[in-house]
Amino acid sequence: MGIVYRRVLLKLSGEALMGDLAYGIDPGVVQGIAEQVAEVTSKGVEVAIVVGGGNIFRGVKGAAAGMDRATADYIGMIATVMNAMTLQDALEQIGVPTRVQTAISMQEVAEPYIRRRAMRHLEKKRVVIFGAGSGNPFFTTDTTAALRAAEIDAEVIFKATKVDGVYDCDPHQNPEARRYESLTYGHVLANDLRVMDSTAIALCKENNIPIVVFDLTVKNNICRAVMGEKVGTIVGG
Ligand code: UDP
Repeated sequence: MGIVYRRVLLKLSGEALMGDLAYGIDPGVVQGIAEQVAEVTSKGVEVAIVVGGGNIFRGVKGAAAGMDRATADYIGMIATVMNAMTLQDALEQIGVPTRVQTAISMQEVAEPYIRRRAMRHLEKKRVVIFGAGSGNPFFTTDTTAALRAAEIDAEVIFKATKVDGVYDCDPHQNPEARRYESLTYGHVLANDLRVMDSTAIALCKENNIPIVVFDLTVKNNICRAVMGEKVGTIVGG
């Protein structure tokens, strides 16, 4: 089986970096993710990553505790930069060239987000890690993933989770839960399935970007997904 996707946008939630910890970053888990990314870049696949921040700070939670929502969201965005730099470190330790670009300027630690520059990095086979979400409060990193994927002409979004796809109900609560092999954007939106938030799904739908939802904790899954293997659930037109 050959490579099906040559430019991929990988969406990692903050929780994906947390492993079994209750908060923060598990360096061993991050190393495992870096190894999976290295495996596909060694095959010439171009990888851009949007990373979340839920392992450190979430704007909605801050707002629920009484903070100003926009301020809390900016803190959440800054949290994602910590994750982006952690991923950068893990990738570079194993010889994968990377660039971090942030949507909120932090020029001492990262480049600003410049679309054309990001695309040039990808052409040069550098992994581009997008930090600070979209730079706007009231958005999520899922929406950022859809936005950046459209901007950089990614062929697909890989939405890495801890479950092996999308189910009709929570598989942890209901043993009868059924996993979908494929879904349409419309079905996801109409049934409010928790693939990505609805803004992200709508953006993917408008721009015809398929989403592959799969379990990142299974080794080789990124590689298998790149080869077009059925590793989880695919959402498309
Ligand atoms: N955030 C934001 N605008 C964006 C992306 C993220 O304000 O474009 C903030 C928001 O507060 C969010 C936090 O950053 O709660 C962390 O991102 P997210 O919750 O999407 O991370 P994940 O769930 O993927 O870990």
